Amino acid sequence: MHATLPLMQVTDFPAIHRGSLATLQVNLGYKCNQSCVHCHVNAGPHRTEQMEHETVEAVLAFIETARVRTLDLTGGAPELNPYFRDLVVQAKRLGAHVMDRCNLTILEQPGQTDLACFLARNDIEVIASMPCYSEDNVDRQRGKGVFDSSIRGLRALNKLGYGQLGSSLLLNLVYNPQGAVLPPAQPALERDYRENLRRHYGIEFNQLYVLTNMPIQRFGSMLISKGEFEHYLALLKSAYQPQNLEHVMCRTLLSVDWQGYVYDCDFNQMLGLPLPRTHGKRTHLRELTDVDLTGNAIAVRDHCYGCTAGQGSSCAGALL
Ligand code: SF4
Ligand code: SF4
Repeated sequence: MHATLPLMQVTDFPAIHRGSLATLQVNLGYKCNQSCVHCHVNAGPHRTEQMEHETVEAVLAFIETARVRTLDLTGGAPELNPYFRDLVVQAKRLGAHVMDRCNLTILEQPGQTDLACFLARNDIEVIASMPCYSEDNVDRQRGKGVFDSSIRGLRALNKLGYGQLGSSLLLNLVYNPQGAVLPPAQPALERDYRENLRRHYGIEFNQLYVLTNMPIQRFGSMLISKGEFEHYLALLKSAYQPQNLEHVMCRTLLSVDWQGYVYDCDFNQMLGLPLPRTHGKRTHLRELTDVDLTGNAIAVRDHCYGCTAGQGSSCAGALL
């Protein structure tokens, strides 16, 4: 795989600084039952990196001392980590809102058929990847049979109350473009998704999050292979909207990797870009007990233009 960081070291992205912490985003490991083309984590069935028990304990200790309001669990498929369910239950006990970034097909994997019930019972928000409402597009991007399995997963979640009017169980879908283009406007695409998924499959959901593809890891490497990397970066820069800068997610989010090291966001984690406060050395979550990062500089490079292009992009969709 081609490395993209060396191509983005010199940047003119504006300096930004952290606000107060609201969300701890924790990557529980790179193992996944899928190997999607656009995956910025390079996850797959053969990855073995998984967060261990003592790191999970460090995450819980941090949630308690830093009074973290939201725990955002990601991977790979976070549910494949053996401590996933313990972490969820304990974090809820500490009063955190918990989000599970779920690829939907995991709900049908051996040993996971009770997962949907577990999520509902614990009032976990589900953020589900659904890159299109058309079977062809989804299977091309995520693998054969993924669309049908995803539809079955969404139906199972709906049956439990997820995405239904008047229910507290939140089901949000995530869209990202198929190639080196900016995503369409979020409100219009959300209307299309709602209409199509309701009409053809009887599926309900709360919100659609529209994400911009980041020029890193598998997607970035694919751009380099096709000779499109510079062109895509130029596209992101040409669409820069300064008003997005106030709302980029790294201002209120801290990202934790499977070993417990922290980064300004998931993308910086994947690039191995540590918090600037340690001058190139990684910071472990344990070192941040009683440390207030408010006002700290954020590590920016050219990939940050992916967050500020057009309507903006974050783990919760468009910014504007
Ligand atoms: S489901 Fe998500 S984590 Fe797994 S390979 Fe696809 S994009 Fe990566
Ligand atoms: S890529 Fe990360 S550090 Fe850069 S603006 Fe986006 S969230 Fe912030």
